[in-house]
Amino acid sequence: MSIHEECGVFGVIAPEPCDVASISYYGLYALQHRGQESCGIVVNDDGVFVSHKDMGLVSEVFSGDILPRMPKGTMAVAHARYGTTGGTNRNNYQPIEVNHQKGRMALAHNGNLSNAVELRSELELTGAIFHTTSDTETIAYIITKERLQVPSIEEAVSRAMNTLDGAYSLVLMSPQKLICARDPYGFRPLCYGKTADGTYVVASESCAIRAVGAELIWDVEPGEILIFSKNGVVSRREHCGKKDKKLCIFEYIYFSRPDSVIDGISVHASRITAGKILAKTHPVKADVVIGAPDSGLDAALGFSQESGIPYGIGLIKNKYIGRTFISPGQGTRLDGVKIKLAAVEESVKDKRVVLVDDSIVRGNTMGRVVKLLRDAGAKEVHVRISSPPFLHPCYYGTDIDSEEHLIACKYSIPEICDIIGADSLGYFSATELHQLTGNCEFCSACFNGDYPTKIPTDTRKDRFEQRLTDIKRGADYGKGI
Ligand code: SF4
Repeated sequence: MSIHEECGVFGVIAPEPCDVASISYYGLYALQHRGQESCGIVVNDDGVFVSHKDMGLVSEVFSGDILPRMPKGTMAVAHARYGTTGGTNRNNYQPIEVNHQKGRMALAHNGNLSNAVELRSELELTGAIFHTTSDTETIAYIITKERLQVPSIEEAVSRAMNTLDGAYSLVLMSPQKLICARDPYGFRPLCYGKTADGTYVVASESCAIRAVGAELIWDVEPGEILIFSKNGVVSRREHCGKKDKKLCIFEYIYFSRPDSVIDGISVHASRITAGKILAKTHPVKADVVIGAPDSGLDAALGFSQESGIPYGIGLIKNKYIGRTFISPGQGTRLDGVKIKLAAVEESVKDKRVVLVDDSIVRGNTMGRVVKLLRDAGAKEVHVRISSPPFLHPCYYGTDIDSEEHLIACKYSIPEICDIIGADSLGYFSATELHQLTGNCEFCSACFNGDYPTKIPTDTRKDRFEQRLTDIKRGADYGKGI
């Protein structure tokens, strides 16, 4: 409930010049749940790139006459960002644009590299100057470097993929081509579709493909590069099969929208399954099952279907809280959770309540939600979590932070139950996760510590900002590289 992912990416290529900015706007709108900090669109108007990027929600950044003033074009790439690595530096807005000797490129990225520090240090030693503190600029640099050596942008992307390690779903455009690529593990989702008039769209999730009136074709395979141009679509799969697929299991549990389909599996169906399994493994006598909005709702429905306990609406979320909402600080007695969520007294008063949520990270939010329900008259509150306990940080583009912040690393389940004030607590079992993905391979490193890549040498979320501070203090990052 309080984990965030870094980004949503979107790309479009049309047979004739048209309002690709508006298509991207609607695509980004559908991906807003993946990032609310900043967003941007770059339009390709016959080889001339025109962009607009800023802090804020899609509706805020492209308000007024911004969108109508963007030119028509045949291509666009777009990005919605939640800042984890790199923080809220304005320079970190995406898509990143690069002008180089052979042309130009705009790049949007979702994920985090696990070798970003090494790659960036190597580039800096050869004279590269970075303007941002995000991994994405490193990717842009490497692709550009390769592009200067090879005859095509797709060849440059292919060669760059031999260097990059970790999570990356990319959408980029050159003056002539739209290209998308998914890392060989397939950590982050990426899919593509086509409209009736022959316009291709690429997006982090299928909900964005449908939002712009396109039919989903399929997911970009792990390791695959798709090249869209006037000549049609070409797939390069020389990276396929080199790695075992490791799609982030949390895309099903929490990150993605329930109406999305990832790698052929419905996110909604996967969450219903999680709720049903939870009801079997952690049964409880109760009067009503409620879900924590929004990502706990589907699993709560599954719990209700399996247990026979009626499903109810027990919590209402304030849907109008955007980026501008500032959580009350310690100096005020207002509770941020109370402003974001309200209990429905009618549903929970004098009842034994099962509260289903997707995760517990630090425990603070869950404790406040349980209290909200008790204050509204709930007789008992039984918490059921549709994921296993978080025991390890994530290095692949989410803000599941260091062990010291994870409540499950410090306390036993009965202790957590006491801390959050619940009558009972049950987690989804790690051994059942395969049932959520149709037995597809997935990453579950934040639950079991089994990382598919090597662990980054510097795991701080602000590692590049910290480097700037360290360099100013005289640290020599050239040593030992
Ligand atoms: Fe997803 Fe967890 Fe793997 Fe990160 S560590 S990619 S959150 S499953």
